[in-house]
Amino acid sequence: MALIKQALHSFELGPIRPPSEAYSLLIRVTRNCPWNRCKFCHTYKGEKFQLRPVAEIKQDIKAAQVIQDEIKELSWKSGYGGRVKEVASMILNNPPSQAYYNVALWLYAGGKSAFLQDANSLIMRTNELAEVIRFLKQTLPSINRVTSYARSKTAAKKKLEELVELYGAGLSRLHIGLESGYGPLLQYMDKGVTATEHIEGGRKIVESGISLCEYVVLGLGGTKMWREHATQTARVLNEIDPDFIRVRTLAINNRMPLCHEIETGNFIRSTDEEILTEEKLLIEYLECHSNYVSDHITNLLPEIEGKLPQDKGKMLALIDRFQSLPPQERTNFIVGRRVGIYIYLDDLCDVHKHQAVEQIINKLSQGSNQIDDKTIYSLTEGFI
Ligand code: SF4
Repeated sequence: MALIKQALHSFELGPIRPPSEAYSLLIRVTRNCPWNRCKFCHTYKGEKFQLRPVAEIKQDIKAAQVIQDEIKELSWKSGYGGRVKEVASMILNNPPSQAYYNVALWLYAGGKSAFLQDANSLIMRTNELAEVIRFLKQTLPSINRVTSYARSKTAAKKKLEELVELYGAGLSRLHIGLESGYGPLLQYMDKGVTATEHIEGGRKIVESGISLCEYVVLGLGGTKMWREHATQTARVLNEIDPDFIRVRTLAINNRMPLCHEIETGNFIRSTDEEILTEEKLLIEYLECHSNYVSDHITNLLPEIEGKLPQDKGKMLALIDRFQSLPPQERTNFIVGRRVGIYIYLDDLCDVHKHQAVEQIINKLSQGSNQIDDKTIYSLTEGFI
């Protein structure tokens, strides 16, 4: 039976947040993406960008507070003495609305973190964004970490003092889609930012004290630009030296303009094995002090993680280990990973899992045991 039968309060939610913000309270400060032209991105296509008035955002924050208080009260009434974890967990099983689900999940995880949506919160006037962050922290004082997405170009246009002001107001981290550091590729993908602007925006954020996470898309260069994509991305990251580098692998759906480029033969995708060679080159060229994180379901080897530079050898050794496997074992791992059976290379040693993957390969290939690239792409894309 539902613990809360009716959602009496509500606030607006945007479509996405980074995987690392899964337990954050989501506060939507703008709607959609002010650029919205990147060829590899479908998230906001067809949606119009809008700034939200500060008063409206504050109302959403107050609504989140009321839902929080309602959950706390339920905890007392249900005999949990104000402890919210148990009640939050029951609400998560049967939430009356997305807003209640989000608040329950946030409270379940301790109520410490908030993420400001959507694609580029820095585009707000600095004083208004600072006001929103201060209000959020005053209204929900358990929050000690506030993060958001931003574009490098917008960060590059802000004065350093403005970013310092946002840091002072409580902005802890910005997540930026670097995607690539290779100029011609950024242009081809219509990213709307140059490598120089990536460096300028990133450096300014690092200097302001705000923690910075840069996202890289493995495979974005396709078969034509993979080498420059790897080496130039490393060069730009070395200059920025962000706290985090997060990688994800290119996955395509038909709402992305890049899908059309693939159909017309303008863009040729790299295979999983080629992307691993690209990732190896990227890591070899990295000379920064970042945490390298691979927390996305699309990545073939999510265990390639570590602190740079000290873990570089360990990360490269994993790639070497995969590359030195016999061809049929590499195919077995790729298929096993793409159907969700494997996570780690060591999973290959699990006899039951290995046999299960062999059976899948047999079925997919109708007995030939030859798996084509299209099959692998569609398995990968089944996850997104
Ligand atoms: S800036 Fe980000 S959200 Fe906007 S279109 Fe590009 S990738 Fe998508």
